[in-house]
Amino acid sequence: RTGRRMDRSRHVVHIGDVPFGAEPFVVIAGPCAVESAEMISHAAECVGKLGANVLRGGAFKPRTSPYSFQGLGMPGIELLQKASRTHGLPFVTEVLSESDVEQMAECVDAFQIGARNMQNFALLEAVGRTGRPVVLKRNFGATPTEWLLAAEHVARAGSDQIILCERGIRSFGDETRFTLDLAGAMWAQDESRLPVIVDPSHAIGLPRLLKRAAAATLAAGLDGLMVEVHPEPSEARCDADQALTPELFDELMAHLKRFTVERPLL
Ligand code: PEP
Ligand code: MN
Repeated sequence: RTGRRMDRSRHVVHIGDVPFGAEPFVVIAGPCAVESAEMISHAAECVGKLGANVLRGGAFKPRTSPYSFQGLGMPGIELLQKASRTHGLPFVTEVLSESDVEQMAECVDAFQIGARNMQNFALLEAVGRTGRPVVLKRNFGATPTEWLLAAEHVARAGSDQIILCERGIRSFGDETRFTLDLAGAMWAQDESRLPVIVDPSHAIGLPRLLKRAAAATLAAGLDGLMVEVHPEPSEARCDADQALTPELFDELMAHLKRFTVERPLL
């Protein structure tokens, strides 16, 4: 069992020039999906101005229903890259298929492996072989140990640039979208040598609860947040109910700052 605090300095992972697992608390923000050039550029501008450190957005969307919007695919990655460079934020985006890994590795700042692919071992290994940073989400049915073993698959393929992301697990009740397992995230942080962030948007699904969940994540000593922010949530083609408006994201950032006496935001 590794005492994380003891060799904390060895666990820092960078997305672009943004460090995860160092002292500052890091914020990844952006829409669920890239919808158009204007929309992702506007979203990047908003979240950057409001204090996000990294841009998120999906071009390949793992939708539960095959009839839902599946994302713009590779052209969406180009739009993300453009928005990211224009507004000075590195970006992370989900990879769904092993066959896209090589092409994406040339242009993404970090891969996201979604909850549904946490144990897609061929995909984990393909991403690991590129050496690019990866945000590995926990599957909603996985134990923390299974999550860390999934990370080992990436590591064994050749990359230690792994950030773990808790995004809610299935328990019972649908009052919140999933159940945010902060304790599981803390356990994974202590047990592994890796930075751990929390995605309260997918875990909880209710914009009004996110700022408190964000503050709890900071207070728990975790390494950062991933939140969905959309310039016009009611128009979103994916996860419309859970996206924060830029105004609510501004409130969340202001709320976080109240808890940073001992721990600065990046
Ligand atoms: C997402 O980040 O948009 C997403 C699909 O997340 P998850 O894999 O956690 O459901
Ligand atoms: Mn989403």
